[in-house]
Amino acid sequence: MRDSIIQIVYYASAILFILGLKRMSSPKTAVSGIHMAGIGVLLAILVSFFFPGMHNFALMLLAISLGSIIAFLAAKKVVMTSMPEMIAMFNGMGGGAAAAIAAVELLKITFNANVQMPATMFLLAVLGALIGAASFSGSILAFFKLRDWLKNIYFPLQQQINLGVLFAAILLGIIFYFSHAVFIFLLFFLACLTYGVLLTMSIGGADMPVVIALFNAFTGLAVACEGFVVNNIAMIIAGTIVGSSGTLLTLLMAKAMNRSIRNILFVRFGTTKSVNSVTGSIQAMEVEDAATMLNFVNKVIFVPGYGMALAQAQQKVWELASLLIDKGIDVKFAIHPVAGRMPGHMNVLLAEAGVPYDYIADMEEINPEFAATDIVIVIGANDVVNPAAKTDKTSPIYGMPILNVDQAKQIFVIKRGKGKGYAGIENLLFFNKKCHMVYGDAKAVISKMIAALKTA
Ligand code: NDP
Repeated sequence: MRDSIIQIVYYASAILFILGLKRMSSPKTAVSGIHMAGIGVLLAILVSFFFPGMHNFALMLLAISLGSIIAFLAAKKVVMTSMPEMIAMFNGMGGGAAAAIAAVELLKITFNANVQMPATMFLLAVLGALIGAASFSGSILAFFKLRDWLKNIYFPLQQQINLGVLFAAILLGIIFYFSHAVFIFLLFFLACLTYGVLLTMSIGGADMPVVIALFNAFTGLAVACEGFVVNNIAMIIAGTIVGSSGTLLTLLMAKAMNRSIRNILFVRFGTTKSVNSVTGSIQAMEVEDAATMLNFVNKVIFVPGYGMALAQAQQKVWELASLLIDKGIDVKFAIHPVAGRMPGHMNVLLAEAGVPYDYIADMEEINPEFAATDIVIVIGANDVVNPAAKTDKTSPIYGMPILNVDQAKQIFVIKRGKGKGYAGIENLLFFNKKCHMVYGDAKAVISKMIAALKTA
């Protein structure tokens, strides 16, 4: 009876995960989705206390309390630009937990000759340990790199050595199956952790969000594997959901950047350089002049990018947009899927500033509207509006879908100076005759525009 109730509660929490995830796909329902999934996790944790043979309750409660307090404080304190680091850290913990479960199960058969593990279960335990431990060490390294505490490290025969360590880990797992030796067990885990570090070591800082999404998928897979080993239905379902959604997210991000996963993992970004040089000149405009022009338009589209996040200008941008809306101007925000440095980066910033969802449009929806737009205001975006992606076959971003800002009647680009975007290339848009640069920090420029509009 108790067993059946536990299984029913696990199924209920799995259904809550699925419904929660579904709701997270729209900004309107995301918060309730997060609450739903949170309740699912809470239920799964609570019911685990009633598992037959469960003991060490004090230790469990202490670990859960410590983890919850640290996670709560970290999540409260984190600024939007540091979100990828936090996700990397939480991810790493998930992978580490899956690897720890595998270690406990594998040690049981090492120290107790009476405990038997069928070959398939052993295979799953070892696979979960490999993926979980590599995601753990890789995610921790990703955290350090995103914090700029560590630089990329390259050395000769890097890919071959990485592959060698992966094969060594697999081989040690097989030897452990036959030997049950603690020494081999330790070497196996060492090889798995080393592989995670080696894999992440050479990946460029701004590619890291894609790698974090990949580790997220790996962590889910590791948890699902261990779910089979300990016969826990909630772990199997939650792990599979995380694994599949993480894989989809990784593929979507790679597609939006027009890069393959192989390219992200094994090729240094920036090794392909555009061979076409840019000709023409860049025109600048004073903030006050740009603001004046805003008085005579019908339609304005704002295009936010990574620079808006750095400047923390989102509140001011919404203040300016509201002023234009009050004047009867049709205003929209265009969001590129990889604007900023993490998926949904711009959506979160705009939501934080209170921009209603109806004003926000994604790339496919907004692209046909640019041609009929009087002024586009690009705020700290660069690569996601670079027409080289459509015209320059030698460009590293060639093929990446972009926002068709160049089709608008007039374009203002707000950025501090001649700084390049993540791709490190010249932006053809800036040389367009319809484009004017309004130089300065995004927050300062937008504030000046607001002041100028208010006094006009
Ligand atoms: P970019 O990184 O291309 O460009 C940002 C621009 O912001 C810079 O050119 C910089 O120019 C400007 N800037 C910086 N600080 C400020 C400031 N305080 N005020 C005004 N402007 C500022 O940004 P995009 O959003 O256009 O593109 C994102 C890039 O990141 C893409 O190449 C994408 O592939 C990549 N990427 C995205 C991920 C995601 O999940 N979103 C993940 C990994 C990579 P200046 O220095 O002159 O001010």
